[in-house]
Amino acid sequence: LLTGSNVSSASRIAMGAKSPLTGGIKESNGGGITAMWLATLGIKAVVMEDIPEDDEWHYIRINKDKCTLEPANQYKDIGTFEFCEAMIKKYPDCAVTCIGPAGERLYSIAGIATMDKEKKPNRYSGRGGLGAVMGSKKIKGIVVEEKGTVEIKDKEKFKQVFKEYSSIVIKAPSSVSYKTLGTSATVRVSNDLTGLPTRNFRGEKFEHAEEISGESLYDLIKERGGEGKTTHACMPGCIIQCSNVIPDKEGKTIVSPLEYETIGLMGSNLGIGSLDTIAKLNAVCNDLGIDTIETGAAMGIAMEAGIAEFGDDEGALNLLDEIKNDTELGRLLAKGTLTAGKTLGVENIPVINGQAFPAYDPRAVKAMGVTFATSPMGADHTYGPMIKTDDFVGASKKAQIMMAKIDSLGMCMFLRGAITKHMDIVVDLVNAVHGWDLSMDWLDVMAMDTIKDELKFNELAGFSNEDYRMPAAFTNRKIESTNDIFDIDSGELDKLRQWND
Ligand code: SF4
Repeated sequence: LLTGSNVSSASRIAMGAKSPLTGGIKESNGGGITAMWLATLGIKAVVMEDIPEDDEWHYIRINKDKCTLEPANQYKDIGTFEFCEAMIKKYPDCAVTCIGPAGERLYSIAGIATMDKEKKPNRYSGRGGLGAVMGSKKIKGIVVEEKGTVEIKDKEKFKQVFKEYSSIVIKAPSSVSYKTLGTSATVRVSNDLTGLPTRNFRGEKFEHAEEISGESLYDLIKERGGEGKTTHACMPGCIIQCSNVIPDKEGKTIVSPLEYETIGLMGSNLGIGSLDTIAKLNAVCNDLGIDTIETGAAMGIAMEAGIAEFGDDEGALNLLDEIKNDTELGRLLAKGTLTAGKTLGVENIPVINGQAFPAYDPRAVKAMGVTFATSPMGADHTYGPMIKTDDFVGASKKAQIMMAKIDSLGMCMFLRGAITKHMDIVVDLVNAVHGWDLSMDWLDVMAMDTIKDELKFNELAGFSNEDYRMPAAFTNRKIESTNDIFDIDSGELDKLRQWND
């Protein structure tokens, strides 16, 4: 509703479909510029229905006059970066959202990439295999050829509220932290709690946590200089700028951004303590078009099964090559963590509703575990993130409601610390942009309706209470050093999902 209006961090792109990974509802949002470009042409959503009968590939081309299907057979099998470069040559001012070879091959770990403001496909709607949904329709990408402007209905009011909002966001301690260290600031916090996933969620502190911490990442970027950036905005107008650009020793970009979840799943979860290796793994995933969380968790399973050694950097890169080269092992890992774990006979599979845990061990970060076990999306930290609290169920519940508001508005989750107590200002912004007169009640009702609709979708798709259960590996197996276990009563979690109070 605020997309394209230049309100900070309010132009996320949200992908939605039935997930090939979980079989349930999936909303996966990402940053970048495509949503902004669409909104400035007056377009709120692009709906793709049905699948083509022939084997022809297309991309969707959108400009202010029309929407057409353009032939894309020549772009098949190319990575997201090459596709975006080809589109920029054709349409210099374009914004692109696309899939890589993984989406074309219908991998359940395939995501959808969106161009950042430097026009590189670095921003991901990674979770739930939505790249495979786009691939099933034989759509390589959505190309928005040009940009217009969003008409602000009440300019005076917008100017005044925009100033107030921006001042709140820029001064918030959470924004200052994101701008300095990005999401990777969480590595130390999480490891201190024994919540950083280590060697397929074994429940131990990672001995190389300091080497992959946000502080080390910051130092590495500063020391190497070149194209490196400790802070970066993924979309125009974002004043939080949690993103970064990781340079190699020559100062050339390896990847942008490198975030906490990737450091957790492709670093400590694989026993890898080198930021360079994690950045390289991330770069391969981005071009191939796969989710770093699901892929990192599946690779952890492969290591637990003895296919590669934990802590073997080359071994991890080789596992990714298996996926890239579409080998038998690669295709198994590309089915996701649950299928890989069952097939390889691994007991400890960090998955709920078919989707791998993000980088929080739910025994140590229990409120996050509550979110994993009640979210209709499968294990998803963005559905209701909460790290430090003693009220595990209550805090997760509040976080889920807040995230339903933030997601439904198309805003970035990293605004949460800044705006939770100022949602009236956000509603004022919506009213100013659209000339409406909505109240806070509208936002509350929309959030609850969204959560209930999503849970209903899963119910109609055949989900039962048992699908939401925390795996036994986290309810029976204690973290040795702390004795922590995920011990929240299933009945209490089922009650939360009823949302009756
Ligand atoms: S806070 Fe980070 S993810 Fe959110 S819009 Fe800004 S740069 Fe993008």
